[in-house]
Amino acid sequence: MAAKTPIYMDNAATTRCDPRVVEAMLPYFTEMYGNSSSRNHAFGWKAEEAVDLAREQAAALIGANAKEIIWTSGATESNNLAIKGAAHMYAKAPEGQPNRGHIITAVHEHKAVLDPCKRLQREGFDVTFLEPKADGVITAEMVKAAMRPDTILVSIMWANNEIGTINEVPEIGRLCHEREVVFHTDATQWVGKMPTDVERDHIDLLSWSGHKIYGPKGVGALFVRRRKPRVRLEAILDGGGHERGMRSGTLNVTGIVGFGKACELCKAEMDRDGERLLRLRRRLETELAKRIEVTQVNGHADRRLPHICNISFGFVEGESLLMGIKDIACSSGSACTSASLEPSYVLKSLGVGDELAHSSLRLSLGRWTTDEEVEHAVEKITKAVLHLRTMSPLYDLHKEGIDISKIQWQTH
Ligand SMILES: *Cc1c(COP(=O)(O)O)cnc(C)c1O
Repeated sequence: MAAKTPIYMDNAATTRCDPRVVEAMLPYFTEMYGNSSSRNHAFGWKAEEAVDLAREQAAALIGANAKEIIWTSGATESNNLAIKGAAHMYAKAPEGQPNRGHIITAVHEHKAVLDPCKRLQREGFDVTFLEPKADGVITAEMVKAAMRPDTILVSIMWANNEIGTINEVPEIGRLCHEREVVFHTDATQWVGKMPTDVERDHIDLLSWSGHKIYGPKGVGALFVRRRKPRVRLEAILDGGGHERGMRSGTLNVTGIVGFGKACELCKAEMDRDGERLLRLRRRLETELAKRIEVTQVNGHADRRLPHICNISFGFVEGESLLMGIKDIACSSGSACTSASLEPSYVLKSLGVGDELAHSSLRLSLGRWTTDEEVEHAVEKITKAVLHLRTMSPLYDLHKEGIDISKIQWQTH
């Protein structure tokens, strides 16, 4: 059966909301529309009951206690609250002095981690941005080497959203606990896809988001450890003191109900879904590599999430490649910043050259990706790349066996 187009292969950007999630949410718009903080009537109680259930479902997915879940508007907010909240709480500076303390993160984290860290840097904190090797993995050794007596916080994502590589999170967590340093992980791409246990894996703070796990947009969660050690955060929003004072504001009850349901479904279906996604991703990568020479799968060969494939094609121009595969919704290795096309900073950090970064695709699969869609994508991409190469003089030279990296270009 032919695949219906356009084909969605951008599940790392966002996912379709599971119809079972939507169904769970609906009554909370129209019938059970109470404010979960209303303590003196049934509308409030119903809403609170639903939020409590969602808290249990979210906690169960990561091996936490329901009391350790703080609702937010998404992973961006969770990361901000975790990083700024911990830095300000654990800052080591005498009264009236500027903030001090050392923070460790990595150059290829999501902007929702990098930008809070850069803001803290401007406030006076010292930040080390670790650089990965070509495989993209941040190891416990790298973190250990960067640790200082004044290190207060380590923030390393569980798995990268562009290349899918998996960092040594349990090992980094153990190291942080030995050194009594707070450990935060942006687990937005990991949770719901891979088994997670904040106890076993020594996590203090963990961020994730509804819309990356087949739930609604605009709702997220932050796990905040309550014992061994009890982690404290300075709030960003002041107000009614909701969420143990850490995040004021009326709760997004419908969103939270959807988030909880999405977590429950992921927990129940993770093993089966994971196997299927890994099979599809491997098929995509091997078929593309078989049909198109000079391709490169970016990131570690095995330490990668089942659903993300990042692949570069030599001797094609990125923009033209995207034009040629218009019915496949995916991301490219170029980030559109205002008018200019910047190569992805993530690929750059692995040492991928600008040219190759521009001609990279991130294909991310999801719960509804089919074999037919993978087949269609392979055919479309192959056709586009081979066509573009017929117009590439550099590719002709390459075929003649000339190493183009050694050519002395004439300069003016
Ligand atoms: C999507 C994503 C975010 C941002 O999540 P929002 O809920 O959209 O704010 C943060 N980190 C990673 C790794 C992501 O993939």
